[in-house]
Amino acid sequence: MTDRRGLLIILSSPSGAGKSTLARRLRDWDPSIVFSVSATTRAPRQGEVDGQDYHFMTDAEFKKAVSTGGMLEHAHVFGNFYGSPKGPVRDAIIAGQDVLFDIDWQGAQQITNSELGLHTLSIFLLPPSIAELKRRLESRAQDGAEVIAKRMQKSWDEISHWGSYDFVLVNEDLDDTEARLKSIVTAARLRRTQQPGLLDHVRSLQSEFEEGEE
Ligand code: GDP
Ligand code: ADP
Repeated sequence: MTDRRGLLIILSSPSGAGKSTLARRLRDWDPSIVFSVSATTRAPRQGEVDGQDYHFMTDAEFKKAVSTGGMLEHAHVFGNFYGSPKGPVRDAIIAGQDVLFDIDWQGAQQITNSELGLHTLSIFLLPPSIAELKRRLESRAQDGAEVIAKRMQKSWDEISHWGSYDFVLVNEDLDDTEARLKSIVTAARLRRTQQPGLLDHVRSLQSEFEEGEE
């Protein structure tokens, strides 16, 4: 058994609130965190790399992966399918590594309620305002006006699920949000149940203590 039990770290937010940016910063901080590369049927954005940002799939490929039990969770978001492939998550957890998911509330719910007994840490990002959310989607300059309008229209659907997450961060100042996110991850890793190696340590303390008593 490893000293640490892997955590499933789930980041959700309305589109444009900062999930990808903060996920990147979390991985730069600790490269041992495995990023769950989702599968999707949406078209790649400019600069997105297949296998790195997403596994881009056709509808038929996606449906096959779901029907053969290859997805830990999946959902229909903004007219496309998205899902988290199971294999890499299983490998990381066996190795005692944390896995980071950038997924919507439907996926978060499926993972949190799964019977697999996995340890989860769910974090929701709120924008400082709806106007700022729109500004961020526009400044990202990766989607057309129609796609942005669709994401803004759906933003309340996502925000309405904020109450079922373990932690909620208002992402106003990016550096400040990053610091708070790292504190949450650090604390979650120190939960007693995440440290199976503690039992051996306490036993060795006990032996040392008892020897001192003799
Ligand atoms: P963006 O959030 O605007 O960058 O757009 P994307 O197309 O990358 O993602 C759209 C939504 O799908 C976001 O809310 C993501 O969190 C969500 N999403 C991405 N991957 C997955 C996944 O594997 N499962 C689920 N359930 N949602 C996902
Ligand atoms: P999401 O993955 O949630 O859709 P992104 O991480 O792509 O969101 O962020 C959307 C845009 O907002 C990006 O251009 C990003 O650089 C910017 N952004 C993220 N967080 C902040 C912040 N705290 N302040 C200002 N801009 C931000």
